[in-house]
Amino acid sequence: MSMWSLILHGGAKTIEPSDEAANRKGCARALQAGTDILAAGGGAIDAVLAAVRALEDDPTFNAGYGSVLNAEGEVETCAALMEGNRFQVGAIAAAQGIRNPIEAARAMLEEEPVLIAGRGAHLFAREHGAATCRPEDLAPPGKASTGPEGRHDTVGAVALDRDGRMATAVSTGGVEGKPPGRVGDSPQPGCGFYCDDRLGGVVFSGDGEHIARCMLAAGVMHALSEQIAPDDAVRAALERLEEIGGEAGGILLTPLGQLGFAHNSSHFAVAFASSEAPEPRIYLRKDEAAE
Ligand code: ASP
Repeated sequence: MSMWSLILHGGAKTIEPSDEAANRKGCARALQAGTDILAAGGGAIDAVLAAVRALEDDPTFNAGYGSVLNAEGEVETCAALMEGNRFQVGAIAAAQGIRNPIEAARAMLEEEPVLIAGRGAHLFAREHGAATCRPEDLAPPGKASTGPEGRHDTVGAVALDRDGRMATAVSTGGVEGKPPGRVGDSPQPGCGFYCDDRLGGVVFSGDGEHIARCMLAAGVMHALSEQIAPDDAVRAALERLEEIGGEAGGILLTPLGQLGFAHNSSHFAVAFASSEAPEPRIYLRKDEAAE
């Protein structure tokens, strides 16, 4: 096994024409951060960590710096990282004041508990060397606002490294105006993400309550085990979601480096590259990919 591949997304959402360039640029930068690691022989965990950290640092995306505000005008973040060999999962939820939530999820990967929430997540981050900050430091002045609009989205990445190892990462500020302490699909394995070296890795973005209720990531893994093609596996999950309403997008990568993505949101910022096709490809809508 010597090929590598990385797919990432910057959220299932509506992208206004004025935000298109920032979304493409942010995805390109994150892709570069991850593929540099994979091309140099680095591991899938490090690659998804680097890609998601770059997306968190970019206020274009609702994760880390630039996260939306909850009903009390505060940033609360969720993040998760999973590797597909031993099924280790590290996740944090409703966490405040962690500069890069994905760093705390990475540290959690080594721990027995799967998910740590709230104040415990902040304390864990501080004790394990993930940079902490004031909660308000994650809200760029003039950008985030509470309101009835319910802005949301998430960032995520799936990587396959040259050793055939896979990893999946996700990070989100959740849904604008959410109640304090609310946790969506993103840090819950089988809902917002999953990873299995034998089947593949998947990450979703979208309406977290709906995604969790339908266990979308689990549905995709089941479809992969039935040899369903990657695009069809994500599409079938979205069809299931549509039975209860809800907007989402998902990205998928298989151990053979095949990728798939689909969305029922108007846009879904997606980027990918592999050792076979290293030129970055970036789409803001699936139908661009078909052109
Ligand atoms: N799934 C995220 C959440 O519910 C938000 C999103 O991806 O739009 O927290």
